[in-house]
Amino acid sequence: MKKILLLTTGGTIASRWTEQGLSPGINCQDILQMLPVLQENFIINSKDIFNLDSSNVQPEEWQYMAEVIAEALPRYDGIIITHGTDTMAYTASALSYMLQNLNKPVVLTGAQIPIEQMFTDAEMNLQVAFAAVNIGISGVVIAFDGKIINGCRSVKVRTLGFDAFESISAPYMGEVYADGVHIKSKNTCVLRKGTFKLKKELCTDVFLLKLIPGTNPEIFDWLQQMKYRGIVIEAFGAGGTHFERRNLTEKLKKLVESGVSIVVCSQCLYEKSDLSLYEVGRRLLECGVIPGRDMTTEAIVTKLMWALGQTENPLEVRQIFDTNYAGEVTLE
Ligand code: ASP
Repeated sequence: MKKILLLTTGGTIASRWTEQGLSPGINCQDILQMLPVLQENFIINSKDIFNLDSSNVQPEEWQYMAEVIAEALPRYDGIIITHGTDTMAYTASALSYMLQNLNKPVVLTGAQIPIEQMFTDAEMNLQVAFAAVNIGISGVVIAFDGKIINGCRSVKVRTLGFDAFESISAPYMGEVYADGVHIKSKNTCVLRKGTFKLKKELCTDVFLLKLIPGTNPEIFDWLQQMKYRGIVIEAFGAGGTHFERRNLTEKLKKLVESGVSIVVCSQCLYEKSDLSLYEVGRRLLECGVIPGRDMTTEAIVTKLMWALGQTENPLEVRQIFDTNYAGEVTLE
């Protein structure tokens, strides 16, 4: 029988109604009690590591989770983490970089309806998570609504629908059918060979800016004054910013020259950004920004925090973005 560690962190799956609204209140023992069949088929140890709505899960929690996982990993066949869905994609992406050369499954799951409530999707999602461990997927993945998704390709796309997560610009790793898990791409999360290593340093001085037509260039002066070391820009279409009347590129050039790492991606959810296609993108490349290619915003923000946690040298940050660690990017 496979040995699994179940870590609980809160989220809707572990929530109950309170006077303040839905709030996490169920512990790992309560969750385990709801899963008698899984308990018959796996050796399951469990631990509550925190009990938060995932809006309150921040880089410090990612680091703590990574520490707990790294310490427990040698003793288990896989680790399953229950987590709120709202920021699960950020957590999954961050863990993908912090847990380098991961050779076992680390599976995040959660639910749109609390596990104690009628019509909950929690049991099904947990079963998919256990199935992902059972088939021996490697890397950090999200198991949800019958799908197994590479963690750093996942995005929450629905607030209420049970199909809350999609795999962006990458196929699902697996899908669960009545005859079992159909594996599409088992090892796309783990691309680099070598021994497992915890690299948990992160820099939280990272800002995400979604452009609107008419964004005031002075915003970048403020970001510089606030000492941000990394900025992610969600630009238009294939990756453009305006330079007529309100010249954003001029400001970005100054920021890059001062040592700030700037990554530009698209506001479009699907398909890649290509800054070389239009003049409005090429001008950005000339400023020295790093192209986000086909990465999700979640994967870029967390990669930038992680890269700036590893090095102070902007050239090395660029090299990190030229490296595919966990299937997060397609490098031409
Ligand atoms: N607000 C909840 C959370 O992210 C939503 C959920 O878990 O589905 O913790």
